[in-house]
Amino acid sequence: MAKHRHPRTVAAAHGVATDAAFGAVTPPLYLTTTFEFAGFEKSRAHDYSRTSNPTRNMLAETLAELEGGMGAVVVSSGMAAIDLVLSRLRPGDVVVAPHDCYGGTQRLLLARRARGHFDVIFVDQADQAALAKAMVVEPALVFVETPSNPLMRVVDIRAIAARARKAGAKVVVDNTFLSPALQRPLRLGADFVVHSTTKFLNGHSDVLGGAVIAAEKADAEELAEWSNTAGLIGSPFDAYLTLRGIRTLFPRMSQQQETAQAIAEHLERHPFVEAVHYPGLPSHPGHTLAKLQQSGFGAMLSLELRGGTEAVRRFVERLEVFTLAESLGGVESLIAHPSTMTHASMDPEARRNAGITDGLLRLSVGLEAESDLISDLDHALAAVASAAQLPRVARV
Ligand SMILES: *Cc1c(COP(=O)(O)O)cnc(C)c1O
Repeated sequence: MAKHRHPRTVAAAHGVATDAAFGAVTPPLYLTTTFEFAGFEKSRAHDYSRTSNPTRNMLAETLAELEGGMGAVVVSSGMAAIDLVLSRLRPGDVVVAPHDCYGGTQRLLLARRARGHFDVIFVDQADQAALAKAMVVEPALVFVETPSNPLMRVVDIRAIAARARKAGAKVVVDNTFLSPALQRPLRLGADFVVHSTTKFLNGHSDVLGGAVIAAEKADAEELAEWSNTAGLIGSPFDAYLTLRGIRTLFPRMSQQQETAQAIAEHLERHPFVEAVHYPGLPSHPGHTLAKLQQSGFGAMLSLELRGGTEAVRRFVERLEVFTLAESLGGVESLIAHPSTMTHASMDPEARRNAGITDGLLRLSVGLEAESDLISDLDHALAAVASAAQLPRVARV
């Protein structure tokens, strides 16, 4: 197979027309737990599906090539992927994580710390002084998430990786929000990329999955060995569906981010919207950095509504095209209220410190027509306005 194919080609066609048995164009789904030995003491490429499976391996190879890594391990969820990377750590090791990381990641780090598996320091990774101070303890692992959830803060992967390398730490980047179509952290110096493939990679809100991609072959092999040892794996059927989703990753990302940009610009002009957080807006503090390290601004944004929880209730109840639900990255547009949904388990103080207000709403922009999405938001904003007995805003 030709090396250094464009990632777009990899996404659309990795493994196509490689079936030796029947010449199937689409790589087959191997629903088998075990494989016949060719003869006594003669195992084949696969012997048992916990260790390896052709369909799951096909997805792993595709992800490794998309991220520019030397290997990947496919597991059953994004959280399992993060835990697989954390399995490298030993008691006494320190992890440096973002103060505003994904709620599930924070919960996992705290739970493993409470069990004495390793120590954790949470820092604002955009704060250079705080980051420098954290490096003094010589952490084993630096966990990065950019853009962050739900405020879309952008941090400099290359700069953090350089700092971490000096301190002897490995760097892992959660690339779920952008996917390899828009950001390739291994190129910027990261050692590992983790994904919740549940989101943009699968893209159809019908498979829960995760993956770790390693820059170095030895690291990939160590992860694969642990995945087999601990049974941290993904099912072949899920891998098949996820690979099917990846076929259209690039055109989906491209269309969804175009619509997200239009929505962000529209909302920014709206008087009932206090703030819009989207890296594609020149007003966003991470705009310049995002332009440098990303190849697009993505399809996630958040907005702050005036009027607190009551306004939020009216707004989400009036929406018809956006669906009120957790998760993101699917072809259908979703809206979430972080303070009562995704971040509800977070300590209120920590939530405030992370900048998550009661009026904050997160949008995952799908493939619907831009005009329908914008008029849906406008109608809901008008409902908020009339309830507040404020003058109706002219439709733009
Ligand atoms: C959803 C998500 C996860 C967790 O993934 P699951 O597949 O739900 O386990 C981790 N990180 C980010 C940024 C996510 O959005």
